[in-house]
Amino acid sequence: MLVNQVTVSVIALLSLKLLAERFLNFTNIHHVLLRRNEIPYGFETFVDLPTYQKSIDYTLAKTNFSSLCAVWSFVFDSFVIFSGLMPCLVSASAKFFGTQTIGQAVSFFLINFLFSLFGIPFSWWRQFRLEDFFGFNRSTQTIFWTDKAKEYLLCFIFGFPIFYVIAWFFQSFPRSWWVEAWAILLIFQVTMIVIYPVFILPLFNKLTPLPDGELKARLLQLTQLTQFPISEIFTMDGSKRSAHSNAFFIGLGKFRHIVLYDTLIAQMNTEEVAAVLAHEIGHYKHQHIRTNLIVEGVGSFIGFGILYYLSSSSWFLESFGFQTEYPLVPLILIFSIVISGVTFWIDPFFNCLSRRHEYQADRFAADALGQTEPLISSLRKLHKENLSNLAPHPVFSAFHYSHPTLFERETAIRNSTPSHGRSEA
Ligand SMILES: [Zn+2]
Repeated sequence: MLVNQVTVSVIALLSLKLLAERFLNFTNIHHVLLRRNEIPYGFETFVDLPTYQKSIDYTLAKTNFSSLCAVWSFVFDSFVIFSGLMPCLVSASAKFFGTQTIGQAVSFFLINFLFSLFGIPFSWWRQFRLEDFFGFNRSTQTIFWTDKAKEYLLCFIFGFPIFYVIAWFFQSFPRSWWVEAWAILLIFQVTMIVIYPVFILPLFNKLTPLPDGELKARLLQLTQLTQFPISEIFTMDGSKRSAHSNAFFIGLGKFRHIVLYDTLIAQMNTEEVAAVLAHEIGHYKHQHIRTNLIVEGVGSFIGFGILYYLSSSSWFLESFGFQTEYPLVPLILIFSIVISGVTFWIDPFFNCLSRRHEYQADRFAADALGQTEPLISSLRKLHKENLSNLAPHPVFSAFHYSHPTLFERETAIRNSTPSHGRSEA
């Protein structure tokens, strides 16, 4: 048993996170259940009581499931930290694959692969039990397991060379490796944003250019009006896995892509789809992808700085039972556990920034359309069809929600005064 000041402090940090999660979940469930028989004011016109109550049941089921995942994750991490399992795995792996850079990279991937296997039953249950119960699952066992295999393969193809290069820097430049490692990761992130819609997404979904017709004509008219030149708008067969509907904007510069789920097109009329597109264009016009990249870049720079400090403090790894002259693998493995206890408290700030982006994109959409009704009606349909929680507890949504609640968005949209035809944003 590895019980010392450091391991106990880490467990205390993770316990605090677990307690806060339990408290937030409890507060939210209590809040939602109190309102189970009463549709929130203003929403009676687009949602009936049975659908509203189903959305509450869905919220409860998701909350219970996330609580179960959180408890499991806490138990698992505590076991890994106290039992000394990690040092055993690292030294066994080092004996087998060697301590050269390539051997370290193999060890890192094998141990991560092993640990990630424990998460698979949870994602299986979420898809084929929870989502299925509420009528959202459209996936099959074949799709699920093929997806998993592809995800692991991609992790290996991209992750292995990156870890290898970082390990090489770690050994060759003991003082500055963390800055180089940070730069490599940042370059990788930018590259992924560019290549994701062209090379990665098509491995999982079929992207089809929107067929000619009224919808395409209206959407292309909107892209011209908003000075967002794009040759194609794609639809994605999201219905292959789920009945949930969505749309997203991804890519940088010439490689930008707007993707609409087929489920979304099936649920909305032309003007509502145009509103969703205008919202996505709003994200582009306000350069939200770039802002997120900068914020994440600053965050990861700090993260690497801490990693560097810990790498030069032998007490840290020794407290977790490691006695190795090749500390990079154990350092990253332990750091990835510890950091979740810290990022949990930082996430609300990122969510706050994300909600700000959503307001800006909504505002842009309202201006571009010259009216607010299609935007509001598209948001209502999205919330209704996806059984979103219409009345979460304010503290819960402020902490966890990356998007404002429907009520908050509607209020903000109504308070904005759309100009006619196009936006100057
Ligand atoms: Zn958005």
